[in-house]
Amino acid sequence: MSFDINQYKIESEPFYQAQGNEVERYQAAYAARLPVMVKGPTGCGKSRFVEHMAWKLGKPLITVSCNEDITAADLVGRFLLDASGTRWVDGPLTLAARYGAICYLDEIVEARQDTMVVIHALTDHRRELPLDKKGEVVKAHPDFQLVISYNPGYQSVMKDLKQSTKQRFTAMEFDYPTPELETQVVAKETGIDEHTAAKLVEVANAARKLKGHGLDEGISTRLVVYAGILIKQGMPAAEAAEMAMVTPITDDAEVRESLLHTIELVL
Ligand code: ADP
Repeated sequence: MSFDINQYKIESEPFYQAQGNEVERYQAAYAARLPVMVKGPTGCGKSRFVEHMAWKLGKPLITVSCNEDITAADLVGRFLLDASGTRWVDGPLTLAARYGAICYLDEIVEARQDTMVVIHALTDHRRELPLDKKGEVVKAHPDFQLVISYNPGYQSVMKDLKQSTKQRFTAMEFDYPTPELETQVVAKETGIDEHTAAKLVEVANAARKLKGHGLDEGISTRLVVYAGILIKQGMPAAEAAEMAMVTPITDDAEVRESLLHTIELVL
């Protein structure tokens, strides 16, 4: 049975509001099949950007959201038992390498350390993936590219990428868009008017100033979009902002009060 990698192609254009020349930079990296690291806080558009680029380049995209339970075998593949005995099943990284897709490992730093070994072989000039258990070395398809995302804000001694891994990637830095661009993103994603979108963005930017002063991470664009969606459902703006932009991100009564006060002033 042959495998159809085209099922991973993205059919319609994912909306992506560029912040600079990141589209051109990515195209240059892809043209040379260089591995790319997208860096930045959670919910600022990294995954959307990668989806947009896969669509633009017409290449299949295989995404793996990494967590602490992800092991090398989850990426590479394993033998499974079935009625006729054991059968090798390729993991997502192997599928991408074998058939030619962009493989996006989201929040790679969360995965177990043994996953780094398999990434390393694919990111140097060899572009190969050894399947030790199967006794096969997969030569990467010419279209294969590896992309990882990384949130430097979460880094700790335990959870940071090693230099030996970092130094195998080109990198692009992302941040929350400027207020003007973020307003457009929120209006376009949710269908609310630009005036209301701008107010939500104003609240988000006020909250982002609290990062390091009671908040670990600012309000993401994702959460601003959620607030817009709730408003579109008919919820009053202040209530939507509280539900999407305050309650999820803090358990601290003082920070909560201060954010609610901002909402009261702005919305
Ligand atoms: P990340 O991967 O950085 O955690 P996502 O790419 O999932 O974040 O972005 C979260 C949401 O924010 C997206 O689903 C989209 O609605 C919105 N978003 C953020 N930035 C942009 C952008 N530049 N263009 C379009 N949508 C964006």
